[in-house]
Amino acid sequence: MRYQRSSALFTEAKKYIPGGVNSPVRAFKAVGGEPIFIKHAKGAYLTDEDDNEYIDYIASWGPLLFGHAYAPVLNAVIEKAKKGTSFGIPTEIETKLAQLAVKMVPNIDKIRFVNSGTEACMSAVRLARGYTGRDKIIKFAGCYHGHSDSFLIQAGSGAVTFGSPNSPGVTQGTAKDTLLANYNDLAGVKQLVAANKGEIAAIILEPVAGNMGCIIPKDDFIHGLRELCTQEGILLLFDEVMTGFRLAAGGAQEALGIDADIVMFGKVIGGGLPVGAFAARAEIMAHLAPEGPVYQAGTLSGNPLAMSAGLAMLTEIDEKPEVFTSLAAKTEYLHKGIESVLTKRGITHQINRFGSMISVHFCDQPVTDFASSALGNNDRFKAYFHGLLDQGVYLPPSAFESYFLNDAISYQDLDKTIEAVEKCKL
Ligand SMILES: *Cc1c(COP(=O)(O)O)cnc(C)c1O
Repeated sequence: MRYQRSSALFTEAKKYIPGGVNSPVRAFKAVGGEPIFIKHAKGAYLTDEDDNEYIDYIASWGPLLFGHAYAPVLNAVIEKAKKGTSFGIPTEIETKLAQLAVKMVPNIDKIRFVNSGTEACMSAVRLARGYTGRDKIIKFAGCYHGHSDSFLIQAGSGAVTFGSPNSPGVTQGTAKDTLLANYNDLAGVKQLVAANKGEIAAIILEPVAGNMGCIIPKDDFIHGLRELCTQEGILLLFDEVMTGFRLAAGGAQEALGIDADIVMFGKVIGGGLPVGAFAARAEIMAHLAPEGPVYQAGTLSGNPLAMSAGLAMLTEIDEKPEVFTSLAAKTEYLHKGIESVLTKRGITHQINRFGSMISVHFCDQPVTDFASSALGNNDRFKAYFHGLLDQGVYLPPSAFESYFLNDAISYQDLDKTIEAVEKCKL
């Protein structure tokens, strides 16, 4: 494949935009080479500026459950745009989307719309702190909750309980309120809670993790967290920015059969436009301004175009719940196909899958947390990524990201993908 025009556009972009991109993972740093620039997309396929076509396995990092330029969403946005794009004054469509989301998602009475997953998580933690009157939160290594300060924390060397900032610009003061635990390690969480008794406002996690590859929570871990939170007066925060409306109409809460206290959304809920949201029982949401004292606001929050895309998307999901069975079946087919090819080729690997989320790890131990995910052979991942890209398959350009299938992908596309795995040089 030729990437000449993409390459030229990237060079130009770098002159005016730091690193040439508006979100770091797009820059291909983890896989080497230069990003492709997209001209347009339809259904399962991306077309880049050099007119190469790709089967898309990221679906804009999750939102596009039915594929690109999906007519119901597209038409809703076009029609809405003709009536004005933003007012900063209430509109009926905000209530319609809220009503539908509340109907689809278990255990929530009210929802507040924001503009991104980052905002949703940041605001949810503020609400949890305001509600409990406590400062500290527990997060898990490898879970991503957007780029707000409290979440850019990793265990520094020697740091056992306190996290340390993993980005310049995050203060020690912020870092000390974020305690770090390991995914699937309930005993570790219990120790942290015991050592900080009465001080923890929230435990926040991706209920099925997708930002260290796809990692499935063990039953005793996730149920244990629920029990622990209830016992200790801690709020359990499910970051469903990735899993919401993707694993089931009711997200991971429904798929895992667990009620969280505050749930955060993004990605699918905006149908490809910038929307985030957080939701909870009325009693918790009553603490939010203007009903309560916990402040949160947004000039473009509840934007009519974004709401119309979200409403069209959720309406489609609500009316076509079979999309989840279809997506899961396709993802399983892909899993089995890649597994059989890699096994035949004698290449050590692990594949994790839940619903329409899947990741391939080039290592020989089960991948259950950040540490085991980090053991993957990254040189092999790079070869795999570029090998597939050159054959017209766009995977997430990082070993730490889950793939997101969209239902426009056909079995023929899946076969083509599996064949590409067979042919790529590893
Ligand atoms: C994408 C993502 C976010 C951040 O959402 P943005 O819209 O990129 O700010 C937060 N949490 C999870 C689990 C995500 O996957």
